Amino acid sequence: MKRKINLQFLFVICMTILVTMILLTTIFTEIFKEEVMEDLSTYTMELKSIGVFENMDAIEEDTFQEFRVTLVKSDGVVIYDNYINPNQLQNHGNRPEIRDAIKQGYGQAIRKSETLNKSNYYYAVKLENGCVLRLAKESENIWSILMRFLPYILVLTIVLVVITIIIASFFTRSIIKPIEKLANDMEHMESVTTYKELQPFIDTIVKQHGDILRSAIMRQEFTANVSHELKTPLTAISGYAEIISNGMADEADVARFANEIHRNSNRLLSLINDIIHLSELDVMDNAIEKEEIDLNTIVQTAVDMLQLSAGKRQVRLTMSGVASIFNGDKMMIEELVYNLINNAIRYNKQDGTVHVEVYPADERVVLCVTDTGIGIPKEHQERIFERFYRVDKSHSKQTGGTGLGLAIVKHIVAKHNGDISLESEYGKGTKITVWIPV
Ligand code: ADP
Repeated sequence: MKRKINLQFLFVICMTILVTMILLTTIFTEIFKEEVMEDLSTYTMELKSIGVFENMDAIEEDTFQEFRVTLVKSDGVVIYDNYINPNQLQNHGNRPEIRDAIKQGYGQAIRKSETLNKSNYYYAVKLENGCVLRLAKESENIWSILMRFLPYILVLTIVLVVITIIIASFFTRSIIKPIEKLANDMEHMESVTTYKELQPFIDTIVKQHGDILRSAIMRQEFTANVSHELKTPLTAISGYAEIISNGMADEADVARFANEIHRNSNRLLSLINDIIHLSELDVMDNAIEKEEIDLNTIVQTAVDMLQLSAGKRQVRLTMSGVASIFNGDKMMIEELVYNLINNAIRYNKQDGTVHVEVYPADERVVLCVTDTGIGIPKEHQERIFERFYRVDKSHSKQTGGTGLGLAIVKHIVAKHNGDISLESEYGKGTKITVWIPV
């Protein structure tokens, strides 16, 4: 980056020097040309006014050493030239300055000289007798002027380049400094003063940094929770098995212990299943394999499947729904629906009800599970979507809960870019609504 800024500075300064030089040289050349022409014209007019060319015999050759003087008749024939014998000169009628002089009284022209780096300046006037008097002078052209200035230009360029390099490196260092500070102290990025242009970038990094820290903490907590959750049923299984194998249990106990071992193994299995599921959802890329599915059909199947379990708990399970087609991952949606209805049955009261509604609305499909169950106290409502968070641990365990159901639901909703909301009143019931874009 430093190198780039330095090079850009250098480029800008070189371009500036070049453009300035071209401009200055052009302006200077124009002024120079005007000056030479003015000299020529003044001298020509003077010669005309003294009338020396009206009488050819009075001309003295070395009067005009400095200029070439030519006298041309109106038909273009050269009758006098102080540099070249007029007989050797061609007809001058087609020279622009002569043509103009015949036509409008005066004419001027600049032509390349035979000498390199020089130009010939011509000025011509029409005399009283119809002839044209032309004065010429050889003078420098733009290239020779440029060449004359070249050493100064080079010295100036070198000086400017050196100054630019010093200033540019100073500038780049001061521009880069806050960025280097940021890179060296990611922990305290907020306290480093930088430019306002960098602020969005810093905000994003601070946010990402925070997210990474949070997710690291969450992962740690999750691992600790998983170990703890797995340990409980395993300890129970191991304990009962030990008693049986020692022959310390009588026949009636063996059956009871075997039942406990069976119950705890099932719990272990559902825990492991949920953990695997959740970690699969975690690692999966954002894109999921979607197909066209009808939420109503899925809910219908889940309700049919859970009727038995609802019956056992004396809970009335009903549903009302219309076809609600959308694109989603069928297995994930089945799990989401199952978890929500299962919770509504498990956290219900005797003779309570669960009502499930399905309908499409505004480019979305809506699933609404309402129960008249035990409800969730306000202070727990925010947290029940966290992994292993349970309002009443023993109730959850008794009913085969793992504490991961709602965490999985939340994940699935997010994978489908949907929304979830919870309304609950302690002791009265709960309503969970899910919206998924079609
Ligand atoms: P669990 O396996 O314990 O049911 P979930 O993640 O499904 O785990 O739910 C987390 C907690 O949220 C539950 O332990 C329970 O306390 C509470 N909960 C979930 N659904 C309901 C509901 N419909 N009514 C009352 N409490 C609920």
